[in-house]
Amino acid sequence: MRTGIATVCLSGTLKEKMQACAIAGFDGIEIFEQDLVTSPHSPEDVRKMAADLGLGLDLYQPFRDFDGVTPDLLKANLRRADAKFKLMSRLGMDTILVCSNVATATIDDDELRASQLAELAGLAGDHGVKVAYEALAWGKYVNDYEHAYRLVEMVDHPNLGTCLDSFHILSRDWDTAPIEDINAEKIFFVQVADAPKLSMDVLSWSRHYRVFPGEGQFELAKFMGHVVRAGYTGPVSLEVFNDVFRQSDTERTAVDAMRSLIWLEEQSAKWLASTSTDAAAGNGSGSRRRYPMELATLPKVNEPAGFNFAEVKADDTAQLEKLLGQLGFGFEGRHRTKDVQLWTMGQARVIINEQAASHSEPAIAALGFDVDSPVIASARAQQLKAPVVARKVQADEEVFQGISAPDSTEIFLCQGSPDGTAAWTHEFGEGLERSAAPQNAVIDHVNLAQPWQHFDEAVLFYTSALALEPQPFAEVPSPSGLVRSQVMETSNGAVRLVLNLAPAQQAQAARKTYQEHIAFAVDDLVATARDARDRGLEFLQIPANYYEDLDARFDLEPGFLATLKELNLLYDRDANGEFLHFYTATVGSVFFEMVERRGNYDGYGAPNAPVRHAVQYDSLHRV
Ligand code: MG
Ligand code: MG
Repeated sequence: MRTGIATVCLSGTLKEKMQACAIAGFDGIEIFEQDLVTSPHSPEDVRKMAADLGLGLDLYQPFRDFDGVTPDLLKANLRRADAKFKLMSRLGMDTILVCSNVATATIDDDELRASQLAELAGLAGDHGVKVAYEALAWGKYVNDYEHAYRLVEMVDHPNLGTCLDSFHILSRDWDTAPIEDINAEKIFFVQVADAPKLSMDVLSWSRHYRVFPGEGQFELAKFMGHVVRAGYTGPVSLEVFNDVFRQSDTERTAVDAMRSLIWLEEQSAKWLASTSTDAAAGNGSGSRRRYPMELATLPKVNEPAGFNFAEVKADDTAQLEKLLGQLGFGFEGRHRTKDVQLWTMGQARVIINEQAASHSEPAIAALGFDVDSPVIASARAQQLKAPVVARKVQADEEVFQGISAPDSTEIFLCQGSPDGTAAWTHEFGEGLERSAAPQNAVIDHVNLAQPWQHFDEAVLFYTSALALEPQPFAEVPSPSGLVRSQVMETSNGAVRLVLNLAPAQQAQAARKTYQEHIAFAVDDLVATARDARDRGLEFLQIPANYYEDLDARFDLEPGFLATLKELNLLYDRDANGEFLHFYTATVGSVFFEMVERRGNYDGYGAPNAPVRHAVQYDSLHRV
């Protein structure tokens, strides 16, 4: 698959954008007119820069408001087109995007549109230019890709074809199956963009909220699958207008973009295999249909089986040790060669890392996930351009495959074991008497705060590299603004990761106000809370108003309600089951949560999240 990206996706100057695209590994780019117009470089310079960088100049865009106009306007439009075709020859470019008219069209007549497009195609032919005509979702008369293609067929000129843009097609919910019936020679260009499902006018949605494939909710693998079945072999290029990406680091966004195409390529191949008529007919192996476009695949991974460990980094570890001890964790000793402690409760393992932690407040630094094969999972992540984390190890110690997540949390891919144990724990606590695990516990979920400019990138990272499934996002009210909360989880809920995008006020405040947490699931939360209280644990204090509201909503048995209130426990219930939980005070930027899931309760106590935010806000501002 030939990969491309429109320069409008990125921040920076045209030169910076081109360099970032080359570094990220794109085959070609679309030059967005404004980037050229505002550039100090001549078209010849840009052409040379692209050649030096090994970048194809695949599409010049956009050419707007051409068709369906009065004769006078047509004349002016053809003059404008002539100037652009000459410019393209200086750039060494041969394909231009012409969007369906949104502003100046006054005549709704396909015969007229076809005759005007035929004139444009004739002129383009004289310049050796190919015109890719695209139906904008908000085009005045042409807003449907099948309509645009009908016009292309009517004109039937070698220099006129169509451009398929996933946003314009999927935002309008057009059926994508008829793409397969388009003559591949008439598909001059394909643009892909994802988007969250939003209820708003389609122009604003398109201009501000497009995201890279895998970061939104469009069925892009299916769209691409139809394009591949049509026989298309040209560039697949990202055209993503996004307010955040346009002000984020250029190179980093280009890498995020490239990751999205690598992932989309794999997902498209998967979609094709799963819907192939050969497969349905059970024709067996080796008979998979081949299409003109070759789709690369990635090392295959299953979703992770569970959390292997969570790691907190701290200079002064006293408060963390105290908290874990009060919660009922057992100290399993120090690592035999590193300045690292291991604490466990059942299968929940917490590492306190004191290495390279000078002057740092306690913070979540790393997460380990159980995978079938750390090497395969690491190969996949690296092919998806995840940065590798280097960790020093001694000869006889387990080597962890590590990658760095967008918020720089280190992600370790660990060998899972059927009984949930971890071999590396034997590197800890030599000579120490091990206490029999008093409690059955696992890491239930981890809640990570995401910098605002890397939120979408994080969703794609965990989807593509770790095979977690993004759930519909929620917005949680807090005293400092709405917290956007995105759950990423495995289908069986064994791994649950919650990505939180904090409001600007929180993000700008001192880092330590930006709180993250690790939640542990136990069998009996009330008993765990009582034991913790007896050990002197400082609970997050829940206001009495909460319990009144709880009683009003759930009509709880008075004794149970009193227990909840006495122990600062939070409660939720839905059709699947019940959820009990409590939070500890925060140390540095970390706090802990203990949960008990009853029945098949699958959530996170979302109705209680505003209470937690408000109490934490209050305790921070009291200091
Ligand atoms: Mg487009
Ligand atoms: Mg972090």
